[in-house]
Amino acid sequence: MIDREYVVKSVISHRTYPISSEMIAPCGMDCALCIGHIRKRKPCSGCLGDDKDKPHHCVVCSIRNCEDLKTDENGTFCYSCDSFPCRRLKALDKRYRTKYRMSMVENLMTIKEEGISSFVIKERTRWKCDNCGSILCVHRNECIYCGSIW
Ligand code: SF4
Ligand code: SF4
Ligand SMILES: [Zn+2]
Repeated sequence: MIDREYVVKSVISHRTYPISSEMIAPCGMDCALCIGHIRKRKPCSGCLGDDKDKPHHCVVCSIRNCEDLKTDENGTFCYSCDSFPCRRLKALDKRYRTKYRMSMVENLMTIKEEGISSFVIKERTRWKCDNCGSILCVHRNECIYCGSIW
């Protein structure tokens, strides 16, 4: 059960915070939609942001720290890797497709084919609450602002 009053107060600044290219992780995760970013206490600034308030599992993430990503001169995103999608990425993708209705691999293919700007514009529409227009959280199945189920 979500404590809506607390959540609304805590994430009010996030409500109109635009999804931007800086929030898209190498694995295709849109960190702007993550509860770790939205939370009030010590919000994570995203995979590409500093590590200060990042959860440990994201600091040590084997995808983010992948050597292939670091050494690939085109390596902003996993899609430019010869092993794409590797076992680690497939496992993450499966978890998110199953639990959160989002696919990292699909995100990356859109970025590869259409560019990051186009992807970001689509994300802003896709993750907008039909009822109140606020940004949805990928880790919650109801809008954290108005409670509308999505
Ligand atoms: S907790 Fe991890 S997935 Fe969430 S915003 Fe931070 S880096 Fe991104
Ligand atoms: S797809 Fe390539 S760059 Fe991305 S985590 Fe897997 S091996 Fe590393
Ligand atoms: Zn809403």
